[in-house]
Amino acid sequence: MDTYVYELGKSLYINLTNRCSNACTFCVRNGHEGYFGNKLWLQKEPAAEDVLGAIDFSKKYEQVVFCGFGEPTERADVLVAVAKELKKRGYTVRVNTNGQGNLINGRDITADLAGCVDYINVSLNACTAEKYQTLCRSRFGERAFEELISFAEKCRDRGIKTNLSVVDVIGAEDVARAQALAKAHDLPLRVRAYIADN
Ligand code: SF4
Repeated sequence: MDTYVYELGKSLYINLTNRCSNACTFCVRNGHEGYFGNKLWLQKEPAAEDVLGAIDFSKKYEQVVFCGFGEPTERADVLVAVAKELKKRGYTVRVNTNGQGNLINGRDITADLAGCVDYINVSLNACTAEKYQTLCRSRFGERAFEELISFAEKCRDRGIKTNLSVVDVIGAEDVARAQALAKAHDLPLRVRAYIADN
């Protein structure tokens, strides 16, 4: 049975797809069946109704987070349909993304996200386009890096609380460079500790 939603801590996570425009060297999908005991490889991608049908709306969550075993903006229409329903019911909605949603969909999806998404975390992952591509291997090539920053700026400008993030394993020097880059674009940067799930 496919896992469309799963609880972790005080939040509910939504797993829309296993597709992703990146093939990150560090991706949790590499050699894993799931995350913290939740099997996240999907037999079939869910429709909005499948996801909504899997949520127990009697429960309250700190946040409902689109963040599965793949890139949620690969399914932007389903994401927006589910997020709208969640907002109607008073939930706080977050999207964790690689920031390539506009490239993936071939259009600016940030207008659709505004109004139904409260928070967006865009993984910056590196301090230069070259390093990003070595690490994340985007199918869009090196331009993915510039595009993800532009995506984050658009989200912010539309009123979504937006931050970039890096994982501390890239080293102190690159974290400092990423911090400078984020500052230059007037975006907050979150530095996360690497969490392995073995
Ligand atoms: S962006 Fe996320 S889901 Fe996609 S390959 Fe990288 S770590 Fe995996």
